[in-house]
Amino acid sequence: MDQQIIFHCTFLFLLGLILGSFANVLIYRLPFDKKGILTGRSFCIFCKKKIQWFDNIPLVSFLNLVGKCRNCKKKISPRYFFVELISAISFVFLFINLDNYFEVIFYQIVFLILLMIILIDLKHFIIPDELNFTLIFLAIIHNFFTEFNFSFNEDLNQSIIGGLAGFFVIWSIIFLYDKLKNVEAMGLGDAKLMTALGFFFGWQSVPFILFFASIIGLISVLPSMINKQKTLRTEIPFGPPIICAACVYFFKGQQIIEFLIVY
Ligand SMILES: [Zn+2]
Repeated sequence: MDQQIIFHCTFLFLLGLILGSFANVLIYRLPFDKKGILTGRSFCIFCKKKIQWFDNIPLVSFLNLVGKCRNCKKKISPRYFFVELISAISFVFLFINLDNYFEVIFYQIVFLILLMIILIDLKHFIIPDELNFTLIFLAIIHNFFTEFNFSFNEDLNQSIIGGLAGFFVIWSIIFLYDKLKNVEAMGLGDAKLMTALGFFFGWQSVPFILFFASIIGLISVLPSMINKQKTLRTEIPFGPPIICAACVYFFKGQQIIEFLIVY
């Protein structure tokens, strides 16, 4: 590798760490307090003591403190470490695989939003509107950058129909379950997430993603259903299966659809 590429990769790795650190703050704060999200200083979630700058350096501080708060010695979630690391690696990965810097930054933001949605939904069973609406916005403007490597749609109409289809399919499921069985099958957060993905990938992706998300969701609760800790009516976060299914569509969707059409 020539020196320039090494320089770019190092720079993006460090920037990725900072973005990952910021994502950690949002993962913690978005489900609760909306005030001071961007300005408030970091503090220990157990003893509430303000964290000094030298204990707030991505990756390094976690290792230096051996994953414990300097003040109260309570265990800090390894999530902080891994989100920073994954964010840094993905930034470098995108840079190596994509052509222009603008595209790299665009997809890094998309990736981080999806990562935040997965982690928040798994813990709190919600998807914050701030993340969904940002994703919808990015998915729509994505259609206007024709120079991007990943232009999923032939034309703008496919994208618009995809977004609307994504929303109304899940909205209908929520509505029907509520009317017929009086249960909350899914949340509107799932509908908004599906809207964003529909805008990204076009309407063909909507049945595909929902089908695979249902299978992934079912597989993920099977072990605890066998142990009788959960039933089919237990609430499960549907955001992570939707995102996993969207990844399947992104990497292998066309091949799978062609396979299904042939057989
Ligand atoms: Zn503490």
